[in-house]
Amino acid sequence: MTGIDSLRNVLELERRKGYTDKAVIGGLDKYLHKQAGQIRQSLVLSLNEVKTKELVPQLVSGFDELNLANSSYGSYGPDERKRWMENVLGWLDKLEGTKGPTRHSEPFALAQDKLREESRDPSLSLRVTTAPAEPRQRRREGLDSPITVLKGITPTVANKFAKLNVRALGDLLYFFPRRYVDYSRRKPISELIEGEEQTIIGTIWQARVATLGNRRGTEAIVGDKTGNIRVVWFNQPYLAKSFRTNARIVISGTVGLFKGHKVFESPEWELLKDKELIHTGRLVPVYPLTQGLYPRQVRKWTKETVDGYLWQLSDFLPPEIKTRCQLLDLPAAIAQIHYPDDLTMAERARGRLSFDELFLLQLGVLARKRDWKEGQPGNAFHIDQEVIGRFLQCLPFTLTQAQERVLQEILTDLKQAKAMSRLLQGEVGSGKTIIATLALLIAAANGYQGALMAPTEVLAEQHYANICGYLSQVGTEEPGPEPGEGTIRCYTGFLARPLTIALLIGSLSNSEKERLHDKIKQGKVDIIVGTHALIQKEVEFKKLGLAVIDEQHRFGVLQRSALRQKGFNPHVLVMTATPIPRTMALTLYGDLDLSVIDELPPGRQVVKTKCLEPQYREKAYTFLHREVSNGRQAFIICPLVEESEVLEAKAAKTEYERLSREVFPGLKLGLLHGQMPGNEKEEVMRHFRAGELDILVSTSVVEVGIDVPRASVMMVEGAERFGLSQLHQFRGRVGRDKEQGYCLLIPEKLSPEARERLRLMEKVHDGFALAEKDLEIRGPGEFFGTHQSGLPDLKLAKLTDLRSLELVRQEAITLFQSDPNLKKAEHQPLRQQLSRVWAGGAEWS
Ligand code: ADP
Ligand code: MG
Repeated sequence: MTGIDSLRNVLELERRKGYTDKAVIGGLDKYLHKQAGQIRQSLVLSLNEVKTKELVPQLVSGFDELNLANSSYGSYGPDERKRWMENVLGWLDKLEGTKGPTRHSEPFALAQDKLREESRDPSLSLRVTTAPAEPRQRRREGLDSPITVLKGITPTVANKFAKLNVRALGDLLYFFPRRYVDYSRRKPISELIEGEEQTIIGTIWQARVATLGNRRGTEAIVGDKTGNIRVVWFNQPYLAKSFRTNARIVISGTVGLFKGHKVFESPEWELLKDKELIHTGRLVPVYPLTQGLYPRQVRKWTKETVDGYLWQLSDFLPPEIKTRCQLLDLPAAIAQIHYPDDLTMAERARGRLSFDELFLLQLGVLARKRDWKEGQPGNAFHIDQEVIGRFLQCLPFTLTQAQERVLQEILTDLKQAKAMSRLLQGEVGSGKTIIATLALLIAAANGYQGALMAPTEVLAEQHYANICGYLSQVGTEEPGPEPGEGTIRCYTGFLARPLTIALLIGSLSNSEKERLHDKIKQGKVDIIVGTHALIQKEVEFKKLGLAVIDEQHRFGVLQRSALRQKGFNPHVLVMTATPIPRTMALTLYGDLDLSVIDELPPGRQVVKTKCLEPQYREKAYTFLHREVSNGRQAFIICPLVEESEVLEAKAAKTEYERLSREVFPGLKLGLLHGQMPGNEKEEVMRHFRAGELDILVSTSVVEVGIDVPRASVMMVEGAERFGLSQLHQFRGRVGRDKEQGYCLLIPEKLSPEARERLRLMEKVHDGFALAEKDLEIRGPGEFFGTHQSGLPDLKLAKLTDLRSLELVRQEAITLFQSDPNLKKAEHQPLRQQLSRVWAGGAEWS
């Protein structure tokens, strides 16, 4: 009896015995696993009798699809056994049918219909045809073990992962795909459509190393019941070895045409074995990679980690929150975000995980707010209205209504015996410095010291000069304690005692710095303006009562708290000119109260903005020439090179040289880029500010907040690469004087979207409106690098989704109110998770 016939006999016996797996001793599976090879051989022999020869490959692949060599009949329940049996016997019937003289093609028409149906019905996923997943092997290494415990992750590979911030197994669980490729739609080969992403399951008829173009690659012919297709992999000749003839393979990719025939070119592939598919036939995750990491490996490792280690991950969210917000369990969410069953599950997984991010962020932020504000008593200042009144009277202008309002908000805070934590937002030129000066003055009037920290020396110097300017209008400058010394000045006449103000920056000589440190320590200086030199260890304040931090986003939360710790719970005022949309402010700066100067002083003209097609660049140059010859200055911003600051600097240098030589040979040009040492950058800015340069060619590092009164033109190359907020910041650099300011945007390539975006710049001059738009278009990551801010990373959460933001915030507040210190036993996992994501951050007392 041939293999095929004995197979039929055994199966029919098993059916008669009521699917009890008693037809053969040792069970059906054992028999099948052993005999499958022979059965296949006898099948191939019997194929001579098949009338329609074209059907041969399809018959073989139909057999292979039964996957008898890996059957798991024994593990099925009665219904499943019956279905399985019908399926196999059905195939045997069809085989029989092909041999008859008249019915040769009919059964296949049927089979094809069935397959067509299958491929149309999205609920029939490939998992039907692949073996059920192996029982998960629980692995014992802890989640903080290095990823090198996984097979194949050598130290070299681990280094590559480290670049992606993946070091431990737990990091790999949280290493999320960027997106998925949908290979879940399977097609019979005959129905493949050119140009679409599709999946087939077939048998390898032949695979060999072939010359493709002029390079070696792999070529295979893969067939299923409905036809054959050529599959090629360029530059991967080694694949041929893995492709045994007759092996079952899944191919996912886009179908192309070559000389009129359909072909898969370098598709994803996966041999069909006893494993779940991870590269093909499903939603396949696409991970962010770095050089030297390959998608297939990374998928293999993430799968291995999910299968082997996910069991160790416990859910830290309180169950009632999960129920209320209808969130997936954490392990399910992690499993689904890597290898989702379908897009709905992927979305739910994302929902859960982004909830976590925002929730942990909120809790940390709330804890900070509590620690700083409510934890210890602050210093209640007495507000001497007379001092304020006298000061304001002496200014050449009156405060805008917005400035008045914000000033009152700040004064109200300063009166409290709680430390102020306030974020002051206001467009470039809205007049934040005067507000800060008033607050510093109040601190001094109360016998406290005040500090103002700026991100760069040039900005610190500018603040120092501005504040001194205001003070000299109000009081009288005394000759300094050491005459001629520019970094300490003393004013009399408006406080009951002389007021001393100092500038502390890194470029002072050591002896100057030491002298200043001494004076600050002894309380001989009232207001100290400086850079991060202010938060160095050596700086000790006698009595710091107010810390003002300018251009907030340049400093992290940690620096913010470093300055805070220089005093006994001082009041803190953070100032920024980057408008932060409210959703974002609530989330990222929830530890701060919010004040907004939403009005510019009267008479400010808007910067005329124009987007120019690249071919009109010459016109822009002519315009620059004219402005310069009228005594103005100009900025030229070089395109952003996101991949590398080194490349960006190089490009800027080339552009600078080109402009100096070919376009503006008669003018004085300066160059500023991020690769220059800090002091060189400061030097260039100083020259430019002093009017010694006509044009500053710069990368995006050009300082936010820098004041160059004579600058009137801002020309931005590659404008479409910048965000709207950043463009708005750039143009805030010009037109600071009475003169009209101009902003010329020159895109490199103008797609319709880019055109629309840049048109907004021409029409909209409200920084907040632009920021909202920006956040909508580009998302928070680019809008505002969270990693710079010292806050936990947001990998998934979208800050544009106001509704979920508010939901999360509400949940966080509720929890915080019921258990502010997370002392309850059921909140311990949450507490641990918090200290993990806020490493070095919030203290949970
Ligand atoms: P920014 O908010 O960008 O820090 P500044 O504080 O540097 O703005 O102020 C910009 C300019 O506007 C300064 O020259 C300042 O003296 C001036 N200014 C501030 N407030 C007013 C006002 N209410 N009316 C007129 N000019 C003002
Ligand atoms: Mg400013």
